[in-house]
Amino acid sequence: MQLTGNLLIGQESAFGSNGSIKAVNAATGAAIEPAFGGATLADLDRACALAWAAFDVYRETAPEARAKFLDTIAQNILDIGDDLIERCMIESGLPRARLEGERGRTVGQLRMFADVVRNGDFLGVRIDPAQPERKPLPRVDLRLRHIGVGPVAVFGASNFPLAFSVAGGDTASALAAGCPVIVKAHSAHPGTAELVGRAVQKAVKDCGMPEGTFSLLFDSGRDVGQGLVKDNRIKAAGFTGSRGGGTALMKLAAARPEPIPVYAEMSSINPVLLFPAALANRGEAIAKAFVGSLVLGAGQFCTNPGLVLAVDGPDLDKFIAAASAALSETAAQTMLTPGICKTYQGAVERAGEHAGVTTAARGVEAKGANQGRSALFITTAEAFRTSHELQEEIFGASSLVVRCPDLATMLDLVESLEGQLTSALHIDEADYAEAKRVLPALERRTGRLLVNGFGTGVEVGHAMVHGGPFPSTADGRSTSVGSLAINRFLRPVSYQDLPDALLPDALKTDNPLGLNRRVDGKLQLAK
Ligand code: NAP
Repeated sequence: MQLTGNLLIGQESAFGSNGSIKAVNAATGAAIEPAFGGATLADLDRACALAWAAFDVYRETAPEARAKFLDTIAQNILDIGDDLIERCMIESGLPRARLEGERGRTVGQLRMFADVVRNGDFLGVRIDPAQPERKPLPRVDLRLRHIGVGPVAVFGASNFPLAFSVAGGDTASALAAGCPVIVKAHSAHPGTAELVGRAVQKAVKDCGMPEGTFSLLFDSGRDVGQGLVKDNRIKAAGFTGSRGGGTALMKLAAARPEPIPVYAEMSSINPVLLFPAALANRGEAIAKAFVGSLVLGAGQFCTNPGLVLAVDGPDLDKFIAAASAALSETAAQTMLTPGICKTYQGAVERAGEHAGVTTAARGVEAKGANQGRSALFITTAEAFRTSHELQEEIFGASSLVVRCPDLATMLDLVESLEGQLTSALHIDEADYAEAKRVLPALERRTGRLLVNGFGTGVEVGHAMVHGGPFPSTADGRSTSVGSLAINRFLRPVSYQDLPDALLPDALKTDNPLGLNRRVDGKLQLAK
């Protein structure tokens, strides 16, 4: 499929005239064709105007029509075929198998949200019927449903060029909620963005959705991304990337005359707690699994295990020796972009030079451009507690083991951690009592707690939370993965004493959509 480098604004496709960007071959650092034209502020205005015009129509589309639209996007992405995988491999440096799996996840997410829309529970219908005879005052008729918040800006992630980009989790959940989406393409994978963007644009047309339901913009600087978040027709944003980028957008959104939420997923070091019995019984096996998780995808997962806490002693020595042996055999891997690789190398260098840190092991030396070489560091509880920089995410295959003098110190250190996407406990039965003691502290700062595993590998389902307190995300009350992600882009509206003729179908008395509803607080399942 030929790439055009065009902006996709509604059903239009035109080359942006505000400078241009080119993708870079992640493996060689060479620029690759074609150029992608940057959007002007006029393009941004047009995309926002179309999205705003689409909103009232799109959010009232019948559940089956909206579900079919999401299914059609999924099918259109599959129909691109191998061109998508090949372009994405060049732009991201990620291997074929990973990207084919990621495409499966992307399509699966879209289909899951189609089912969520068909099911209708996301509307959260509640009905408190009128009680005209109630004394001393009659009760009004109150009905509640959720509607989309409005057009949503999506900033795709560099580390998930399919599953968290143009038609990824943020876009799928916003579209499912009834919100038009404007995507600011990530400059690391513009070709992938165009291919997927055209699949969505075609689905809009095929399914007869309003034109402004979807637009895709390239940005040759920062103006378009920032302009999107500042535009008063945009009512929420989804972002995955750096802490600096996420907080910059959060500040812009908060400074608007009408502030909006930015659901930013930013940085997390995903602590792994090794408890004494597990460490003594299975330390070496845990070490191997830990290294496998650490180096997966060149360590470029937001759930990468960047911190290990354990009690010092011979069992921890054995763990470190086994992890070091495994890690020192790991090959350097192509990173997503030269910029991410440079940031990684700088951060690893600084960690190695830190006065309180020693280097346990490095992976095989890198040959060639843009290669990330894995790293394992060791520090003390005292150094970790007093050096905040040791808590900062190193995006790549680098982790830090903290030798704690005793279990109480290890559990105390948890209280000094920032918000996390995941926390993992490695425990045997003899550890349960101590593990139970630390759970409240972990719950307060973690989105997903897991036992005897690692956070990499995020299941897309109904009970998944991929979120957590700041800085892992901007708002720990939500998730960006799984069906609950739809809630970020919904808001409740109550209707008091509206005649049936004026009520939306979801709230009409004879329940034409066949929805489950909470009537007077009691769940009534649809027949
Ligand atoms: P990034 O630099 O934050 O960029 C993410 C997106 O936001 C891109 O579209 C970028 O535009 C845009 N952006 C960034 N700063 C902005 C600003 N101040 N105003 C407006 N738009 C802005 O993230 P990245 O390029 O994907 O990776 C860089 C670093 O982010 C990594 O080294 C890593 O530390 C972190 N990261 C973390 C995670 C995680 O899940 N924890 C995932 C990915 C990356 P451009 O495309 O034009 O640059």
